[in-house]
Order: sequence, then C-alpha cells, then structure tokens
Amino acid sequence: MKKHNFNAGPCILPKIAIENASKAILDLDGIGMGLIEISHRSKEFEAIIEETRALWKELLNIPDGYHVLFLGGGASMQFCMIPFNMLEKRAAYLDTGVWANKAIKEAKLFGEVNVVASSKDKNYTYIPQYTIPTDVDYFHITTNNTIYGTEIKTDIDCPVTLIADMSSDIMSRPVDVKKYGMIYGGAQKNVGPAGVTFVIVREDILGKVTRVLPSMIDYRTHIKEGSMFNTPPCFPIYVMRETLKWVKSLGGVAEMQKINEAKASLLYNEIDRNPFFKGTAEKEARSLMNICFVMDEKHIALEDEFMDFAKKNGMVGIKGHRSVGGFRASCYNALPTESVQALVDCMKEFEKMKA
Ligand SMILES: *Cc1c(COP(=O)(O)O)cnc(C)c1O
Repeated sequence: MKKHNFNAGPCILPKIAIENASKAILDLDGIGMGLIEISHRSKEFEAIIEETRALWKELLNIPDGYHVLFLGGGASMQFCMIPFNMLEKRAAYLDTGVWANKAIKEAKLFGEVNVVASSKDKNYTYIPQYTIPTDVDYFHITTNNTIYGTEIKTDIDCPVTLIADMSSDIMSRPVDVKKYGMIYGGAQKNVGPAGVTFVIVREDILGKVTRVLPSMIDYRTHIKEGSMFNTPPCFPIYVMRETLKWVKSLGGVAEMQKINEAKASLLYNEIDRNPFFKGTAEKEARSLMNICFVMDEKHIALEDEFMDFAKKNGMVGIKGHRSVGGFRASCYNALPTESVQALVDCMKEFEKMKA
C-alpha cells in the first residue's frame, strides 16, 4: 500500500533527490567512483559544494556580506556555537517551546539571558507578545515550533541582531535575509537528510566577543575555509543540492509557499469542519509545516481507534509529540498534496463510520 510520510524529521524528501543520490552513491556522474568514496577536496566535490552554496544564495536571494556554511552537529550544536561566538554580556530569547528552551539553556553558559516572553502557560500553543530589548547582543527566535505546530510566518523587524532557528520551515517561504544576522538549522526537515547543518551568517556580527574561540567553534574558521576546515558532510550536502534543485525546478520558494499554504488549508479546513477533531495551536499561530490536532473532547476515547484506522490507510508518522499528544501531520515541502488529501479522506471516512 502507498505510504503517506508525515514524519516530523528526518522526513520525506523529494523522490528525484533520493533517486539521484542513490545513483551517485554507486557512480558519481560516470567517474567510476561513488560519491562517498571521493576526496572532499576533489574537483568533483568542490563543484558540488559550490553549486549547493549558489542554490542557497539564489533561492533565498541572499545579499552580499552573508556566508552560507555547511557544518556538522545539527541545530543543537548551534545552540552553543551562537552564544560562544556572539554573547558577550546579555542576549534575548523568545521561549516558544522545547527547541527554544534548549537554545536558552546553552546561552546561559555564556552570559545573561533575557527571556522576553514565553507561551509555556498554554503548552506553547501560541506565539507570545514581546518587546525586544536594545541592550542585548542579539535576539533569538525559533520561527517554526516543530513540536507544537506554531510558526512565526513573517520576517520581524528587530533593532538588534536577529538570529533564527529555521530548522523546520527553511525554504518553505521567501525570507528577507537582510533582516537577520544569522539563520540556521538542521537539514533534516526541508532541505536534506540528517548530518548537515546550514548556517547563513552576516560576517559583520562576528569577532565581537572577547573570549577565546576554539577553531571549530569559530564561524570565521568555516567562512575562511569555505566549510572545508575539516571534512564536511559530503553525502548530506549532495542530497541537499538535489533537494534545492528540485525546489528551484518547481519555481523557487515563492511557489513553495503557495503549495504549502494550499496543503495546510486543506488539512486545517478539515480539522475545523470535522466534529471529531480539533486543532491545538491558536489559529493565527498555525504552522504550515507541522499541523497538530487532537480528538474533540466528546471523542477523546476514539484516539487509538483513529490512529489504527489511519495506519491501515497508509498514514505514517502522525502520532503527536509526547508533550502534546494527539496527532501531528508534518507537511514539509516534499510531502505531496495527494498525501494531505489521503489524510483528509481518512478523517472524513472515520467521521462517517462513527456517525
Ligand atoms: C529538529 C529541530 C532541531 C534539532 O535539530 P538537530 O539537528 O537534531 O540538532 C532544532 N530546532 C528545531 C526548530 C527543530 O525542528
């Protein structure tokens, strides 16, 4: 049976990217060696990383002064690298969930942290109001809260350096990069397999802290060496290139956004219409990427039954995160509209069955 892959990350990738990567593993462009067998300093790999960087710049319209880096360690490594490189005295963070909290925890190791607002009181189902202090080294936000299905869908104006964890909504919409000092994330939601971390950083925000930085921690090392200070994650970078080529072939991030909006409304409309279900996030904060819902109070007892029914119909990965419960359908770029439709059909059928 056809599987509909709603996994939260790692997750579905464009089929063409996986096909091309499979071929490249066996033989890269007919050179008689596989992609994972060649030197990262070979002209073949140099061309791959160069094109990947160029695709990032083109798709997100990244202005001069910014560098695109491909690092290891995941977004979680950035939680510590950011304050290491940029927190001299005090930094501001917006608390919108588990990932934001992990970033806050690391920042506290390096200086004072001003948590400007939190939506913890309602289990992170909304984006809280906040004012950004001006006496901080930077302000950190998490644009998409993967676990709770909330999202900051516009680029905010920020009087200080703005740093954003965009792990789970990068490339889902156009981003006004110049409003940010740095954008980063793990690749494994919208741009590739696990193993590579993307960092888009404006050079002028670096080199301002007084502490000594180990080479691997210092962003300037990776800028200087073109992400080749050490061996980069070659294979994930290749799949990332193929994924970005696919985004480009569809018309780029503006087109991606239209598709994502259409997919998300298809599912949200059903959640709002179907008396058996209800959404968990506040409407204004609803994420286009991770759509969280539960059984309506009157039908709570049917949760396991719907889960089984959905599984039997090919739905994979729709169990909600343990801290939220219910269901989460992650509708990343590569998830086809047919899969969202299949889930909607499943919900409609369940309603009929139980009526
Ligand atoms: C998945 C995720 C992370 C964690 O990424 P790792 O690469 O596993 O460290 C961080 N932030 C957000 C918003 C995520 O969705």
